[in-house]
Amino acid sequence: MPANDTRAEWAFVGLGANLGDAHATLSRALDELAALPGVESLQASPLYRSKPVDAQGPDFVNAVARLRTTLSPLALLAGLQAIEAAHGRERPYRNAPRTLDLDLLLYGEQAIDEPTLTVPHPRMHLRAFVLAPLADLAPDLQVPGRGGVAELLAGLDFQPLSRIDP
Ligand code: ADP
Ligand code: MG
Repeated sequence: MPANDTRAEWAFVGLGANLGDAHATLSRALDELAALPGVESLQASPLYRSKPVDAQGPDFVNAVARLRTTLSPLALLAGLQAIEAAHGRERPYRNAPRTLDLDLLLYGEQAIDEPTLTVPHPRMHLRAFVLAPLADLAPDLQVPGRGGVAELLAGLDFQPLSRIDP
């Protein structure tokens, strides 16, 4: 495959917010994600409400997006961080409440281990608020090295999570 190959790859992005109008923030972020140059199509999962895991503050609103993109993984990460920044994301301390968090969960079949980017996302298999919307979009998906989304989710039923009515 040539180095400048620009065929689209699929990717999954996890979205979460727990400050301000989290529901509205997530809806806007999904639109902004779809509008990123190099993002060709996007499907959004239903929205979920979750309790903070290892974090402070109000409940989170979470979703996952599946997209097709010609962006490289690092270019996509830069796009996610630009959207976070536009929503006033600050990082005063680890796991602080956040207006918007966008994580690159999966990028095709690739395993990426860069200083600023680890894919598959290293904690996605431990989080019901990631796996439930992911399973809605792709029930048969395998998380490389971890297992199937449905099986992983079944082991996390202690994490309170509810689907928000559309
Ligand atoms: P978290 O999402 O774990 O709460 P942050 O959103 O503050 O933390 O991200 C911290 C750093 O994690 C980012 O600066 C980014 O470079 C890095 N990072 C590593 N892998 C990923 C990934 N798969 N998706 C998003 N960020 C990642
Ligand atoms: Mg993040």
